[in-house]
Amino acid sequence: MDYRRTYIRDLLDSEPPREASAFGWVKTRRDSKGIHFVQVNDGSCFQDLQAVIQEGVLDEETVKQITTGACVRLDGELVESPAPGQKVELQVRSVEVFGPADPATYPLQKKGASFEFLREISHLRVRGNTFGAVFRVRNQVSWATHKFFQDRGFLYVHTPIISASDCEGAGAMFMVTTLDLDNLPRIDGKVDFSQDFFGRQAYLTVSGQLNVECFAEAFTNVYTFGPTFRAENSSTARHLAEFWMIEPEQAFCDIEGNMNLAEEYLKYLIGHVLEHCSADLEFFRQRIEPTVVETLQHVLTSPFERITYTDAIKMLESSGESFEFPVFWGCDLQSEHERYLTEKKIGRPVIVTDYPKEIKAFYMRINDDEKTVRAMDVLVPRIGEIIGGSQREDRHDVLLRRIREAGLDEEPYWWYLDLRRFGSVPHSGFGLGLERFVMYVTGMKNIRDVVPFYRVPGSAEF
Ligand code: ATP
Ligand code: MN
Repeated sequence: MDYRRTYIRDLLDSEPPREASAFGWVKTRRDSKGIHFVQVNDGSCFQDLQAVIQEGVLDEETVKQITTGACVRLDGELVESPAPGQKVELQVRSVEVFGPADPATYPLQKKGASFEFLREISHLRVRGNTFGAVFRVRNQVSWATHKFFQDRGFLYVHTPIISASDCEGAGAMFMVTTLDLDNLPRIDGKVDFSQDFFGRQAYLTVSGQLNVECFAEAFTNVYTFGPTFRAENSSTARHLAEFWMIEPEQAFCDIEGNMNLAEEYLKYLIGHVLEHCSADLEFFRQRIEPTVVETLQHVLTSPFERITYTDAIKMLESSGESFEFPVFWGCDLQSEHERYLTEKKIGRPVIVTDYPKEIKAFYMRINDDEKTVRAMDVLVPRIGEIIGGSQREDRHDVLLRRIREAGLDEEPYWWYLDLRRFGSVPHSGFGLGLERFVMYVTGMKNIRDVVPFYRVPGSAEF
């Protein structure tokens, strides 16, 4: 037994008649007169393999064990199927049951279980149709990401997960410590982090950007792709405490080039998913979001709209909509604003640029107006912000001033400032939230349902 056994995907595709062995988990068993029909799936494709067991071929004890959730090996002859919608089926001659699943207690029984319930059985939900499709799409998006950047000569960098600097200056970070919380060392009444593992305070990273910028100043075009962590106490359908981010960074690149890369990359991913996940997308279209496929096809062929934040505010002010959060120049765009712009006003992805400096991170390059920065957020229908990026401040004196204005301690940023002292270069980059993108292409409504095991406030089961 090894990985070279044939996947069900390949069995379904092969020419009958032939001898075949199928390995997988039973989705359903249906008993008809003198025949048992068994649907088996191994996750390799959306479609199940139908196995047909004629009465008398197996002893009844074995047949009884072939229930939903059981892990089996079925051997027999792959033949042309008389049933519609499937080319082949397996006429079973023998069965090995590796792991039975007691029908009385197996939790993944009934069809139509709610997503809320399925989250409580995240260890098993991956065997179902929806999550099979979600994780095949997620796999393809990850693979296509590497393909896209590698084909364009970008260097893949593994940025650290433990970090001493707060990239956004936002403070929503998880601390990493080995100090004894019941017996904290103190100095002048405060916790003495010099006695902590790293000799200083350390956190889980919120972004690999600052580190990846160092590599952009050596390899020009680079990207990082890894987990990031945010301790925001918000339980929305679009926020996780642990999520994956893809962050390219380009030297010799301004905000225009950055927008072009973002648009090209998103379209590449969409094209890849349309090509490689068609059966899964068809399921999402039928069962989750009727517009999903047509939206993706439409996005492929239409240029993204590009507007400034100032124009976006004007559009929102003259929209006649009543928003929960008030709109004024200087306000942070809320999800409802973002969705109005991209869904109702423009009807396709929009890149909003030149945000007020007060609502964006200190490292974004300041415009000559001294009020706005070269930020660019990509907004898409149904999701809102999917990418956040910017041209970076590459002038040492300006960056130092901005760090101070933001009220940050400049000491942890000494190396980041050094990048502007030695061989500085105009450079730009962005971050794409992997889960937000998977939501977008699948039509799934809650971010907890596109990540294998979700971490949100109050929940880190599994
Ligand atoms: P938002 O305003 O939606 O909270 P943000 O502006 O804080 O996001 P950035 O710091 O710009 O996010 O991060 C870049 C990208 O990472 C976002 O565009 C989004 O796709 C994704 N992202 C950010 N925060 C989260 C989160 N908590 N869970 C999942 N994805 C996230
Ligand atoms: Mn953002």
